[in-house]
Amino acid sequence: MDRADDELVTDFEAACLTVRTFAIAANFRTAQRLASPSVVAGVVKADAYGIGLTPVAEALLQAGCDTFFVARLEEGIALRTLARRARIFVLDGAQPDMVPALISYNLTPVLNSLAEIAAWSATARTTKTRLDAAVHIDTGMNRLGLAASELKTLAAEHARLLSGLRVVLWMSHLACSDEPDAKMNAVQLERFKTALAMLPEAPASLSASGGILLGKDYLFDMVRPGIALYGGNPQPGFANPFQPVVRLATKIMQVRAAPKGETVGYSATHRLKRPSLLATAALGYADGIFRTLSNSGAVAVNGIKAPIVGRVSMDLLTFDVTDVPGTVAAGQDVELIGETISLDDVATAANTISYEILTSLSRRARRRYEDVP
Ligand SMILES: *Cc1c(COP(=O)(O)O)cnc(C)c1O
Repeated sequence: MDRADDELVTDFEAACLTVRTFAIAANFRTAQRLASPSVVAGVVKADAYGIGLTPVAEALLQAGCDTFFVARLEEGIALRTLARRARIFVLDGAQPDMVPALISYNLTPVLNSLAEIAAWSATARTTKTRLDAAVHIDTGMNRLGLAASELKTLAAEHARLLSGLRVVLWMSHLACSDEPDAKMNAVQLERFKTALAMLPEAPASLSASGGILLGKDYLFDMVRPGIALYGGNPQPGFANPFQPVVRLATKIMQVRAAPKGETVGYSATHRLKRPSLLATAALGYADGIFRTLSNSGAVAVNGIKAPIVGRVSMDLLTFDVTDVPGTVAAGQDVELIGETISLDDVATAANTISYEILTSLSRRARRRYEDVP
């Protein structure tokens, strides 16, 4: 793109995704305060929940975060170039083809089975080095981690099975930490404590964002928040102690008056019950505006909610601004996620969770990172 083209693009007011990286730092400090004296590790898997690994890692490092979790090996490698000295845990573990890269990038695998423990231990012996590892114990997710029978084996033969390894973390993961009243939380807590009592002494971690809010018993030595850092509510239905991080906004493209009885959008799913003022904006499901928001969600104009009417299409959505006071015209700001419509409001209206809204955020919208309030 030459300079003239670049200026033309800059002048066009496209959708803008604002990321308040200062709020990520503030949320990290809030997590530290709530989890004190437990260590707070930053979970930055999936490009930091779609927000952008580089700016998020920079904000967290600056806030004093020195321990991170990623899911994929590639995510760990990308983070290593940004965080040279940090501890980086890789949740996917140590599959055989991951081993060389885990070692050369100094990444710590979260070992999810006896087979992975055996492979990592064998690597330590052949390379004649002591290798760090976290070990994941399943307490009820039945997804990854040592099953009860494997735990028994490990406990009985830990000296042999862990030879060459230094376990730096025993960890597990809660299934229902978003629901403080779920009985499952206490069940998993008890299972985790029982497991720890069977194993050699090492730091332990049970809680992600939701668990931080379950009380002291759930904190152990380290907590692993993700969604809390990005402003999602770890326990929807209760007040959110964390600050909003993302704002998605664009300009109204067109406003039209439509008579009673007309329909809106594909498949004509919304019929106007009164003469209405409709506005259309250039954001659609290709921008992470879930199609399940059709006739369900709302946007905000002048700080007033305006319901989404008809189907969300790929590039456009239409909303009813009849009840928005004052004038509504093309060029005006419309908020999709922000002060009036929270991330969790959007998730609820779309019949999903804040996590999926974030990881689906538009790659078309221009991104602006704000590191000061
Ligand atoms: C994703 C993940 C987290 C972070 O969860 P949040 O609910 O976003 O805080 C922590 N631990 C594990 C094992 C995870 O997979």
